[in-house]
Amino acid sequence: MSAITTGLEAVRSRIAAAAQGRPVTLVAVSKTYPAEAIREAMAAGQRVFGENRVQEAKAKFPGLRDEYPDLELHLIGPLQTNKVRDAVALFDVIETVDRPKLARAIADEMQRSGRRPRVLIQVNTGLEPQKAGIGPGELDAMVALCRDEFGLPLAGLMCIPPADEDPAPHFRLLADMAKRHGLGVVSMGMSGDFEIAVAEGATHVRVGSAIFGHRT
Ligand SMILES: *Cc1c(COP(=O)(O)O)cnc(C)c1O
Repeated sequence: MSAITTGLEAVRSRIAAAAQGRPVTLVAVSKTYPAEAIREAMAAGQRVFGENRVQEAKAKFPGLRDEYPDLELHLIGPLQTNKVRDAVALFDVIETVDRPKLARAIADEMQRSGRRPRVLIQVNTGLEPQKAGIGPGELDAMVALCRDEFGLPLAGLMCIPPADEDPAPHFRLLADMAKRHGLGVVSMGMSGDFEIAVAEGATHVRVGSAIFGHRT
């Protein structure tokens, strides 16, 4: 077995142990890894992938999509409005809607193209000034804007907790907010903390290095 296959199996069994029978989707974060690594993961049955840059994903995935029509691609990095057209064309889920202007640009592009990838609102649970995302206090207004005013296919919430804090309270807050708004998707947890995220109610975990090895 390849290292990637072994890594995938290990992560899957750790998720299963933490989920105790509840379904949790593994988003394999393939940013910086070559198409060859993705192909290996696909051969091992993985179909859901996360990339954080539109251009990089655009270069790596079209060929893979032809081979694997059931591939599901998530954008997990910041999105500039000038990349919205490419993002709506390429991704199945945009996890990083973090400001009204971006939500409007995505809605306009959906209208124009007829493509409707699901979207998640990124929440800055730690109110970190350098981090993207809607503050918890502004979330009600952002949900109303996305769902009611722009008519976006809003599926859930995502967060990246502060690196130097216990992530559990942040995960709990995100899961509570999603529940309060009737949103089914809760995307949280990375290589270092995905089991905690699953225990706190993640429906999707975004795991890169624990599968593919360290990024250089
Ligand atoms: C890179 C990245 C991940 C995966 O990080 P790992 O620590 O390699 O698992 C998850 N989410 C986001 C938003 C990322 O940018």
